[in-house]
Amino acid sequence: MQMPLATEAITPVPIPAPTVASFDMTMHSIDDADSLWVVADKRRRIQPKKYVPSGLRTLDVPHTYEPTLRDDAAKAYLKMFRAAKADGINLVVQSAYRSYSTQVSVYNGWVASLGRKAADLQSARPGYSEHQTGLSVDIASATAGCTIQACFSRTPEGKWLTKNAWRFGWHLRYPNGKTSITGYKFEPWHWRYVGNDLAAELNRTPQITMEEFFGLPAAPDYAR
Ligand SMILES: [Zn+2]
Repeated sequence: MQMPLATEAITPVPIPAPTVASFDMTMHSIDDADSLWVVADKRRRIQPKKYVPSGLRTLDVPHTYEPTLRDDAAKAYLKMFRAAKADGINLVVQSAYRSYSTQVSVYNGWVASLGRKAADLQSARPGYSEHQTGLSVDIASATAGCTIQACFSRTPEGKWLTKNAWRFGWHLRYPNGKTSITGYKFEPWHWRYVGNDLAAELNRTPQITMEEFFGLPAAPDYAR
């Protein structure tokens, strides 16, 4: 038996990392429109098509269109709005809850100006919009411009949201480079309320989509 040389480096025994409690992916439904975790995309229509969330509440915050959200999302937005303001960041609600019939006019407007193919990359067909769940908000800057444009990500408001929104339960639903999965171009302004648990978990992986996280099929386009 050979004795180790005195100079030989002794490999330290690694201290076992504490076991991270595995995240419970079944905590909430991803199918039920009332669920905080509902996944709506071009392959997953909201059920029923003309679903109206209960507990809608209109916030008293700067806005362009009526800042109405589901109660839990509304409270989380208010918290985030105040925290941003304390940091000198002025968030404006561009658009929040949109009913099925509102989405009919929004979508038809895009089709009229861009044609159906381009409109589908820009706006959801009625019954497929996350805004209909009352859990999504498009956020703009009070001063920096770039409203509903990719350059919003470079505004102070866009940067602040990228860094902090997850702490208030919000998730960047349409990240850069994920159009083949989400079916939408990069939308740095579109934030989806998923609650603190899921937002923190999603935030571990930059640019992750809900489809990837839950192992759902990609939804680049409508099935028909
Ligand atoms: Zn949006």
